Amino acid sequence: NYRCRSAFKLLEIDEKYKILLPGHHVIDCGAAPGAWSQVAVEKVNSLGEDLKASFGFVIGLDLLHISPLEGAVLLSHSDVTDPVTQNKVIGLLPSGKADVILSDMAPNASGIREMDHQRLVSMCISLLDLSDRVLRPGGSFLCKLWDGSESNVIRDKLRQRFQDVRNVKPKASRTDSAETFLLARLHKKNPSSVP
Ligand code: SAM
Repeated sequence: NYRCRSAFKLLEIDEKYKILLPGHHVIDCGAAPGAWSQVAVEKVNSLGEDLKASFGFVIGLDLLHISPLEGAVLLSHSDVTDPVTQNKVIGLLPSGKADVILSDMAPNASGIREMDHQRLVSMCISLLDLSDRVLRPGGSFLCKLWDGSESNVIRDKLRQRFQDVRNVKPKASRTDSAETFLLARLHKKNPSSVP
């Protein structure tokens, strides 16, 4: 049983695109209460339950408290957009590298749709620095977005860095009509050359 229904969105996306594989190192941004991290722990085999498969690694972080979860390293009271936090994450990652960055982050909604949209876009953009530094070539990036006028800004930035960028809208998120996810796959080799 998952800590939150949001788990089903990630399960649905992963069912189709297989972004979480045994042995993968995953960063889960905006992880509280921890349902996506639970899914990641299962999929990447970070508990080593499948002895024949590679063992993965999961690190989850959030501004809020996250209760301990076996198989994951969790950083509570941490702002993912803060470079100090990002350095800490990199330091905790085995070999400093990740295969997948997940973000279900969302700001507290003000109710002003355009403003909430812009705040979420800038949060996603702040993850690109982290992505440039830690993602292995071939890695993936999945982030939540509230659609709006600046969706193309983040989409374009992802296209500079990844070979395949698409919108995904799992059935499980249908009730929230503005919510969509951007899935970027096949991280290019030289993200440092990105302007
Ligand atoms: N994926 C989670 C799960 O399955 O349990 C649910 C995530 S919830 C929809 C969004 C989370 O993003 C909130 O817990 C919020 O505190 C967090 N968040 C928002 N801004 C953040 C930031 N700058 N740094 C870290 N976490 C942030």
